[in-house]
Amino acid sequence: MKIICIGRNYADHIKEMNNEIPEYPVFFLKHENAIIYNNLPFFIPDFSNNVHYECELVLRICKTGKNIEERFAASYFDAITLGIDFTARDIQKRCIERGEPWEIAKAFDNSAPMGEFVPIAETNYPAELIFRLEKNGNTVQNGSSNNLIFKFERIVSHVSKYITLKTGDFIFTGTPAGVGPVAPDDLLEGYLAGKKLISVRVK
Ligand code: MG
Repeated sequence: MKIICIGRNYADHIKEMNNEIPEYPVFFLKHENAIIYNNLPFFIPDFSNNVHYECELVLRICKTGKNIEERFAASYFDAITLGIDFTARDIQKRCIERGEPWEIAKAFDNSAPMGEFVPIAETNYPAELIFRLEKNGNTVQNGSSNNLIFKFERIVSHVSKYITLKTGDFIFTGTPAGVGPVAPDDLLEGYLAGKKLISVRVK
C-alpha cells in the first residue's frame, strides 16, 4: 500500500503559495504509517512549529495498472473520500531552500488522515464534486473537482507511468486555497457534497 499525493493542483492554492503552475502533475509519496482512520485524533509532532492542514479529494485504487491510458483511467478507482495532507510547513520550507527531499515535512507518522470512503458510483463523478473543510465550525477551504488543473484520469495515467498502481493504493489529488496552521484542540471536519466524511481532533 502506498499513498501518492499530488502537489500544486489548484490555481488558487498555487497563488497563495507563490508557486508556478506545473506542466505535469507533481507528486510525492506517503506510506502506511501516515494513515489515520476512524476519525482518531491527530497529534502535532514535536519537530514542527507550523503544521498546516490541506484538505483533499482522495481516490482509492481498485486494480493494478501500469502505463494506464487516460481513457481507461476511470476504471482504476472505485471510491472517494476526503483526506488531510498534514504538512510541516516550516520543515518543508527548509527542505525546499536546501534542495532536500520532502518526506520529513510531508510523510511523517499520522500525516494522512482519511475519512469514510464513498463508492464513486454514488457520487456526481464525472460531474462536479464539491467539498469543504471546516475548522472549529468555520469554513476555511472550498474545493471543486472542476478546478483541478490535472483531473483524476490524467493523474492516474501520469503516476502509473512511473509507479505501478495497485489495489488499495490511495491518491491525494491536491488542495485548494485556504491552507493554514493547526493548534491543539482544533477540530477539522471535511464535507463532500454536504455530507461529513472526516472529522479530526488536533491534540
Ligand atoms: Mg497537499
